[in-house]
Amino acid sequence: RILQALIVLTLITTCSLYGQDKNIDQKVDSLLNIMTLEEKVGQMNQYNGFWNITGPVPKEGNAKLKYEHLKNGMVGSMLNVRGTENARKLQEIVVNETRLGIPLLFGFDVIHGQKTIAPIPLAEAASWDLDAIEKSARIAALEATAEGIHWTFAPMIDISRDARWGRVMEGGGEDTYLGTKIGVARIKGFQGNDLSAPGTMAACAKHFAGYGFAEAGKDYNTVDVGTTTLYNVILPPFKAAVENDVKTVMNSFNTLNGIPATADAFLQRDILKGKWGFEGFVISDWGSGKEMIDHGFAKDLNDVAVLSANAGSDMDMESYAYVTHLKEAVEKGAVKMSVIDDAVRRILKVKYELGLFDDPYRYCNPEREKELISHPDHHAGVLDMAKKSIVLLKNQGNLLPLSKDQKKIAVIGALANDKNSPLGSWRLASDDNSAVSVLEGLKEFSSEITYAKGPDLTKGPLTFINEVEINETNKSGWDQAIALAKESEVVIMVLGEHGFQSGEGRSRANLDLPGLQQELLEDVYSVNKNIILVLNNGRPLTIPWAAENIPAIVEAWHLGSETGHAVAQVLFGEYNPSGKLPMTFPRSVGQVPIYYNPYSTGRPGPIDLVFWSHYTDESNTPQYPFGFGLSYTEFGYSDLKIDASNSRAIKVSVKVTNKGNRFGEEVCQLYIRDRVASVVRPVKELKGFEKFGLKPKESRTVEFVLTEKELGFFNGQGDFIVEKGAFNVMVGTSSTEGLTGSFELK
Ligand code: BGC
Repeated sequence: RILQALIVLTLITTCSLYGQDKNIDQKVDSLLNIMTLEEKVGQMNQYNGFWNITGPVPKEGNAKLKYEHLKNGMVGSMLNVRGTENARKLQEIVVNETRLGIPLLFGFDVIHGQKTIAPIPLAEAASWDLDAIEKSARIAALEATAEGIHWTFAPMIDISRDARWGRVMEGGGEDTYLGTKIGVARIKGFQGNDLSAPGTMAACAKHFAGYGFAEAGKDYNTVDVGTTTLYNVILPPFKAAVENDVKTVMNSFNTLNGIPATADAFLQRDILKGKWGFEGFVISDWGSGKEMIDHGFAKDLNDVAVLSANAGSDMDMESYAYVTHLKEAVEKGAVKMSVIDDAVRRILKVKYELGLFDDPYRYCNPEREKELISHPDHHAGVLDMAKKSIVLLKNQGNLLPLSKDQKKIAVIGALANDKNSPLGSWRLASDDNSAVSVLEGLKEFSSEITYAKGPDLTKGPLTFINEVEINETNKSGWDQAIALAKESEVVIMVLGEHGFQSGEGRSRANLDLPGLQQELLEDVYSVNKNIILVLNNGRPLTIPWAAENIPAIVEAWHLGSETGHAVAQVLFGEYNPSGKLPMTFPRSVGQVPIYYNPYSTGRPGPIDLVFWSHYTDESNTPQYPFGFGLSYTEFGYSDLKIDASNSRAIKVSVKVTNKGNRFGEEVCQLYIRDRVASVVRPVKELKGFEKFGLKPKESRTVEFVLTEKELGFFNGQGDFIVEKGAFNVMVGTSSTEGLTGSFELK
């Protein structure tokens, strides 16, 4: 206690002399000076929390080990602890019972909301609305901090071009430019400007690096990419995260070109902490350290500890390698004390910045918890986000929006009245079955709704951790669905993936409508062609038959707590859909990875002979391209102007007009192509976008400025270069539709 008091006193006196950071650095150094090696290693250790503690902290079994470790200062952080009461109990152990009383850092996967659930991140990305995305992250932070949590393992900023990979639901899509902006918006939402302000929390950019490029889209699989992809596609979102002061970075399960990310000194030391000057700390992914034994990179846990620490992994999540072997490794000289000091300094700094040394219980306020959890404002916020995330894919004959007077509306599909699935994957703190289902939302708009579930989608309830079991055979409910469709004027079919069919460990080899849904869709179509297909999914799907035959298709992802309200508002025209796809929708799985910005081959074709780059049995074009999304109104593009007189600021402008007779929002997108470069450049690259609303017949001139930042690229050595020469420009409504021009960069 005396020691603690002394430290605090010294730190308070230095307070007025130095700025905040300097002050924190000094505090960290003073503390570090009096820590034993064991205590330092303790700070580098993170434990999984007690999932359901009620009453006193359990002292039995596995928990006993943790309790002893907590008491002995061997734990710096815990994950999966939530609730102010639980957090306080654990915090009290370290604050009162350890020698130095260094507070614990509580981390949690706050991926798209805490109790009030926002759309899955991929859906939010479809809004292209950075303010809304930032607000959504802030809502998540408000609720999570109110539950005692200091730190979220988000945002996931892995770029991925493979819809088979289940974790695409957790990211910002396939494009580096858009994904980077979204990642930064989410970091700002979580962290705010001041980490010690109430309602903000430390963010974590993950997974460093390359996790989204798992071969064949199979989770945890090998990643083997070239340097141009690494520098230009994978790393930029992380660089931007660091530039925007992200407090932590999580490494990843995968190997990257033969080296497990957790032990990759090139990534973590040379690039992240070296070249980019990252000052926060790196956390391993769950057990990613010990997985190096299976990778065939480390021979045992001791090896794991040495390799990870030396490579710059500062905190060990669930490998138990540091807590069991790091002290000895330092004593034997396999890891230098300076490595440990550097790691601990980084960790303590984040704890100081969060204000935990001022008040370790500052996030443990039960009143705040009661007040903020599921606050009506948060529901309003996630509803707004949900509406903006919906993408209108097809609207033949303007079947949508539905008139409020529409008679005889049938709602069909196993997902239509599901209140759990819309919450999506990765929403560990939410209450099950707490979403407004699509059916419930629609019923609030119309008394003409009748419902038939049709066959089940899954064999039983799905959970976050169990293997997915899809119903392929049981057709009960089929006939009722067909009969209802027959006697209705319009049919809304809610089909797609269950919320737990995407997310971690949920790779799919097929991207079609799972189970019996395609067959049901075709059967319903045979009795009633007036179908509005509402898709629920955590990744792009292949829906060639529906795209061809079904008149109206609405991409509604997994939209969170307010799903039903958002979908109903769009279907009945209360909200005009404005989302644009953040990922390409393939026609078939064989096209994957398919994305809008590949390099051109030497044989782009088409030519009369077979020898050009194509499939003999599938088109080269996607079903729906990146950036695509319709509206209930129509936007016209005209007057593209390019002014390249100042090579440091190339100006591109275009006039966008709302040609229809209802208000709508458009995302105007700017793409470039560097025609000739020392490294082949993609056929198209998004380099600007703006989302805005236009009244009927209203026009607006949108202006973009292209600087070196947009025009340059990273060469194979990781150097950013800008090369003179010709550039193509396209400005328009998607990655495939717009006005084109060109300029010469002098
Ligand atoms: C995931 C991480 C997550 C961690 C903690 C891992 O399995 O890959 O993204 O943050 O678990 O739950």
